[in-house]
Amino acid sequence: MSTAKEVIVIGAGIIGASIAWHLSKVGAQVTVIADSAVGGVATPNSFAWINASWGNPEPYFRLRTRAMAEWKRLANELPGLPLAWCGGLCWDLPADRLEAYAAEHASWGYGIERVGRDRAAQIEPNLVEPPDFAVYVAEEGVAEPVATAKALLTDAEQRGARMTIGAVTALVLSNGKVAGVEISGRPIVADEVVIAAGTGAPAIAATAGIKLPIETPPGLIVHSRPYKKLLNGLVHAEKLHMRQTAEGRIISGSDFAGGDPGHDPEATARELFAVMKAALRGANGLELDFHTVGYRPTPIDGFPIIGRAEGMDGLYVAVMHSGITLAPAVGLFAAREILDGERDPLLAPYGLSRFAQ
Ligand SMILES: Cc1cc2nc3c(=O)[nH]c(=O)nc-3n(C[C@H](O)[C@H](O)[C@H](O)COP(=O)(O)OP(=O)(O)OC[C@H]3O[C@@H](n4cnc5c(N)ncnc54)[C@H](O)[C@@H]3O)c2cc1C
Repeated sequence: MSTAKEVIVIGAGIIGASIAWHLSKVGAQVTVIADSAVGGVATPNSFAWINASWGNPEPYFRLRTRAMAEWKRLANELPGLPLAWCGGLCWDLPADRLEAYAAEHASWGYGIERVGRDRAAQIEPNLVEPPDFAVYVAEEGVAEPVATAKALLTDAEQRGARMTIGAVTALVLSNGKVAGVEISGRPIVADEVVIAAGTGAPAIAATAGIKLPIETPPGLIVHSRPYKKLLNGLVHAEKLHMRQTAEGRIISGSDFAGGDPGHDPEATARELFAVMKAALRGANGLELDFHTVGYRPTPIDGFPIIGRAEGMDGLYVAVMHSGITLAPAVGLFAAREILDGERDPLLAPYGLSRFAQ
């Protein structure tokens, strides 16, 4: 693997952090540039469920399960990452669709267990109303997102990566190739630039004439104050997705991707919190601390954009929803592609060129 390439990574969220870490680990000279604190913009507002759950075609399932395995590899390589393989209990679909999901994903090798009321109550004893039928996936988990991004970037810095705070205003072009970035009119050169800038990515790419078709739907999540342990893992009930964080907060969205904030996000947050509190035994003292509204960097077909921009050397793009799930695989695959030109077959459907067709 070539080791001396100078690479600028724009973005200090989970995706930029993972790419920067994987590049630094194999000796690339990395500069991370971000106009946020370490941890990013969407990343701190995430529900942070690591999964390959329902609703996706098999190729995307395969990428996601590979990413789940890569989290385990990354945890071995960087001990102390705040990961928990806490399992997910899911019944946010009508019974027939839940059964179809269980049958399909079991046939693909996902570790799915069909559970009845007693088993659901055993998995999550504090549910007021355990479901009569749910599925449980023990291999699902969470990564506390900001702490994970910080750990990756701190270790990347120890391996020689540099952090620069600033807003990239343009890509620098030279001989039809990206040759660096501009921050406040000041150019910084590099062999390669990675756009891992979440919702900020389209504006940066546009300065090189590249269109990134991305939507930015909002997602509201409520956070309780830290509380005694009530939940063992992830719970996905209809319109109520919740988990307890490493610091003891119970966080919840009407969807794991966050609910619609509505015209009055404060009121939406209070209503959702009340539903969450009523769903849990022993939650009398649970208090709402704050809510977040995150904007999800979502390519318009719902799948990630990972790869080189065709016809523009020196530029790599990594923008996606499900960035918490995908981060370790994206970091590994991007580093290999940037340094060695090897594109992982699992990324085949996720190039930017699909939108040109
Ligand atoms: C409510 C919600 C729930 C979610 N739930 C899940 C979930 O359960 N599971 C899951 O896998 N995913 C989930 N996601 C999605 C996941 O959080 C995102 O895919 C992921 O955080 C994106 O990370 P990122 O690093 O690409 O972007 P970000 O965290 O947004 O980071 C972007 C970075 O780019 C920088 N940047 C942008 N523009 C510029 C510029 N011009 N110059 C310099 N720097 C710039 C920013 O400062 C920032 O550092 C959820 C997201 C939300 C909002």
